[in-house]
Amino acid sequence: MPLLISSSAKAFFLSAFPHSKRMSNSGVKTRLRGVVFDMDGTLTVPVIDFPAMYRAVLGDEEYRRIKAENPSGVDILGEIEAWPPHEQRKAYDTIAEYERQGLDRLQIMPGATELCAVLDSKKIRRGLITRNMKSAVDLFHERFGITFSPALSREFRPYKPDPAPLLHICSLWEVQPNEVIMIGDSLKDDVACGRQAGAFTCLLDQKGIYDSPEYADVEFKPHFKVTSLAEVNSVLEVNFNLLP
Ligand SMILES: [Mg+2]
Repeated sequence: MPLLISSSAKAFFLSAFPHSKRMSNSGVKTRLRGVVFDMDGTLTVPVIDFPAMYRAVLGDEEYRRIKAENPSGVDILGEIEAWPPHEQRKAYDTIAEYERQGLDRLQIMPGATELCAVLDSKKIRRGLITRNMKSAVDLFHERFGITFSPALSREFRPYKPDPAPLLHICSLWEVQPNEVIMIGDSLKDDVACGRQAGAFTCLLDQKGIYDSPEYADVEFKPHFKVTSLAEVNSVLEVNFNLLP
């Protein structure tokens, strides 16, 4: 029997979860001990034009080729990892410029403040993992007055989709990965990171882009999918034990 799903929250259970047995057989829900968020496009309104950034770094033709080979999305940091140092530096400068432009227009995602207040009231920890720079995380903390701890930026290697940052947070929190949910708007980074770490995953898909058939056969599918952060609260209420 799958996890209980809130239809009102439009969340849906996408695939079997190795630890769901405990919940289904005993009727006991997993105690949720921590929530780890992605930053750009999850806690903040998407402001970075990623396709334009990828084109600027890779060039039109290379971007089209890589995109065609990677249906779940382009791993720009991974692509430039093996470039010669001078080209890599140029690429990082371009990426940093797009990120800087994004920071100027930074806005908190609707529902983020409310969701964090709910988690605080239940004493559920909040962490953050981003492929953005540490300075962007610092600015986010300063500007919106909500702190995530730990907050790992791309200076922490290896970054998402590697499960290492999530496993690192779990070990600092002294919790098991299957007591944590990773929430993010990227299938290839957030869901892949969460899945590989053995955590629950929730995909924020505001525009339903991942409903497209091209994502039907991706390796890592989310346990839950929502179209807004406001829906996350009911997903958590229905599927987890949130008692402090
Ligand atoms: Mg994101």
